[in-house]
Amino acid sequence: MRNAGSIIARPLAASLHNHRVARSAPRSQRLEVGPDVAAVLRPEEAARLHVLRGLDPVSCAICGEWIAQDSSDPTSVSISIDGDHVTAEFAHSRCSPSRADLASLVVLAQSEPLGIVYAQALHPDAGPVLLWERKLDVRVRGLDGNEESLYLDADWWEGFHSALADEPVRLLAGWLLERNSEDLVLRRGGEEIERFHGALERSTREWRRSLEESGFCLVIVSAGAGLERPAAESVQSAIREHRALMGLAEFDV
Ligand SMILES: [Zn+2]
Repeated sequence: MRNAGSIIARPLAASLHNHRVARSAPRSQRLEVGPDVAAVLRPEEAARLHVLRGLDPVSCAICGEWIAQDSSDPTSVSISIDGDHVTAEFAHSRCSPSRADLASLVVLAQSEPLGIVYAQALHPDAGPVLLWERKLDVRVRGLDGNEESLYLDADWWEGFHSALADEPVRLLAGWLLERNSEDLVLRRGGEEIERFHGALERSTREWRRSLEESGFCLVIVSAGAGLERPAAESVQSAIREHRALMGLAEFDV
């Protein structure tokens, strides 16, 4: 199984590379991202905002008018906070420059605006489970009015899927969970996608043994499940409400 995984990893890595080039090529110069906004977004999240600006009309958060996807109107993106809810909003640059309340966002993200929080669990059937989410869950409102997590981009988490009714969790081709000193590192192709600092140090002996014996880990990336204080109920509801994407990652012992 481990060999099969590394064989398929190569062609996949190549196609993913092309895919990413294709996605970033038409990157719009019409989207202004100010330094305070850039400071709390990961590069892939900023890239997705550029894609969203060019994909569908967006409404200006200030004047309410629509900005067509093919319009050359200079557009800005700002981050607003409402309680512990963080939203990215578009606006005409003339209505509002790109801004964010960096100090409040840093407090909200416990000093790590780009960081994640993770939890480890042992499932009776699935074995070792690794769950994580962005500390700062930046939401963006789609055309249907629903808010989506910017971090949970299905393109970015290629191969991950939301909960399936009657099927087992699928194997993540091209993804690999690796040991790196006391950290666990999730890679796609050769690229480090996420790092779980001290995950091996923190794990129970049973979790670690289960990971080493099975050679696989159920990985679940979620949004708004409250992993700072993980409760089975909030994790379950994130999975039920499709605020979580999952898959089975191979572990390189
Ligand atoms: Zn406007």
